[in-house]
Amino acid sequence: MATDTKIAAPVLISTNPATGETVGTYSCTSVDEVHEAVDIARRAQPAWAALGVQKRVAIIRRFRKLLNQQAGEVAELITREAGKPIPEAMGAEILVVQDAAEFVARHAAEILQPQPVPHSNPAMKTKRGTLHHEPHGVIGIISPWNYPFSIPSTETLAALVLGNAVVLKPSELTPACALKLQSLLHEAGVPKEIMQVVLGEGPVGAALIDSKIDKIIFTGSVATGRRVSVAAAQKLLPCVLELGGKDPFIVFDDADLDVASSGAVWGAFMNAGQTCLSVERCYVQRSVFEKFVNMCVKKAQALKVGDGFDRDTDVGPMIDTRQLRIVESQVADALDKGAKVLTGGERLTQLGPNFYAPTVLTNVTPDMKLMREETFGPLLPVIPFDTDEQAISMANESEFGLAASVWTNSRSRGEAVAGKIEAGTVMVNDAISGFGICEAPHGGFKASGIGRTHGLLGMQEMVRVRYVDVDRVVMKKPWWYGYKGMYREQIHGFADMMFGHSPAKRIKGALNSTKILTRPKL
Ligand code: NDP
Repeated sequence: MATDTKIAAPVLISTNPATGETVGTYSCTSVDEVHEAVDIARRAQPAWAALGVQKRVAIIRRFRKLLNQQAGEVAELITREAGKPIPEAMGAEILVVQDAAEFVARHAAEILQPQPVPHSNPAMKTKRGTLHHEPHGVIGIISPWNYPFSIPSTETLAALVLGNAVVLKPSELTPACALKLQSLLHEAGVPKEIMQVVLGEGPVGAALIDSKIDKIIFTGSVATGRRVSVAAAQKLLPCVLELGGKDPFIVFDDADLDVASSGAVWGAFMNAGQTCLSVERCYVQRSVFEKFVNMCVKKAQALKVGDGFDRDTDVGPMIDTRQLRIVESQVADALDKGAKVLTGGERLTQLGPNFYAPTVLTNVTPDMKLMREETFGPLLPVIPFDTDEQAISMANESEFGLAASVWTNSRSRGEAVAGKIEAGTVMVNDAISGFGICEAPHGGFKASGIGRTHGLLGMQEMVRVRYVDVDRVVMKKPWWYGYKGMYREQIHGFADMMFGHSPAKRIKGALNSTKILTRPKL
């Protein structure tokens, strides 16, 4: 049976949340070893950057091929360590990584390509500006347990292909998945110094931020994200924060209710509700509320909860009892305040300590914890609304802004509402799958984070930009010292030329500015 606590320092004991069996026992990395790992990565990184983008792309494609060959084995490891059903391990972890590997391989050269910066200002026409993109150096990555393979992989692949070294600190609950990623990358040809995993609890993550990394990419809860952000700010260390969500799911009266209710049930319960993009608040137009809720209840009751290895399982265990207790406390709070559980609402102790029944609730009010705090468990609270404006306002009534989904048969209605929702991703007639679209940037508004992973925006987080400006005509500039002369009078004419509204003003300004460019010798 799984236990409450999966860690026994100074070793990590990774356990199967469905059975409590040990997946592996791993030594923790000491603070000194974290610093040493970063120093090693720092020394090795220039050679990795100098290798050239095409050779790195070839290594990433080799990694992809190895992952293809070992997909079954990796999926089983994910299920063993994180509990999710095998189809979820395949679909939401391995396929996502394969897609991301090909995406970063295809776009790496274009991201690193110098880009000309044309100058519109006539006084700058003799110059040529260019943006040069280069790797930051060593990227620290701190990742959570809920997608123990796809989250660290997508971030690591983007960092590596662009010439960075990576030091990865996975969740203490899922070290085996991170070590598998490391071994696949090494086998593909990434030097050992360039991709290293450090293991341990929070202090190991804190040590990584304290080390000589050049950027931190953090994925986790808002509470830890705040701590990471403060620690990074002390060092002025750039950071990307991918934090929690409380994602709304809005169903309009013209939606296909069968499709929408299946989407809500999957979106709320997949990975046992432990997805940052989970459906956490479901708002349904009053005229279809009852019908929609009945459909959800029926579909939730049809789900089979069990071990992720079982072919019939739809919903696996939660990661541990600590996480399950958060769900229990939110349900208790909601019941105290008048909520109604229509199905579920209890632990399935006959299966083990970490299983919780898919739960649908109504009579839910905004003051309940399950409407304000991230649940990270299989709860689907459903609330009625009357008008589009009301739905938008309820959806935006949250400190989070990770993602949202809108269900309607009217494309214009869907797009109009999407444009008013405060979230980094809004999906119309789908939920969650934005994470699996390799082109789509992933990240949140408000407390859900800063910056982006995935897509071209995610790749751009992995490079720093140097602007180089070359003046092809070596001459003294008219705006250098000599302020008493013509420049003082003519600067206004120059501004007119640049920003004047009437063509006549622009011509007059241009004539004046020509005089500026032929200023007297000083
Ligand atoms: P946590 O915030 O508890 O932990 C995230 C990572 O940070 C873990 O590796 C953890 O290590 C580490 N950590 C803990 N303390 C510190 C510290 N002081 N300094 C540096 N690192 C530290 O999140 P969970 O692992 O519980 O993951 C669930 C959360 O992640 C949810 O809130 C979820 O919404 C969010 N998430 C966000 C995603 C997004 O893309 N926006 C995607 C997936 C999840 P350890 O585990 O060893 O304590």
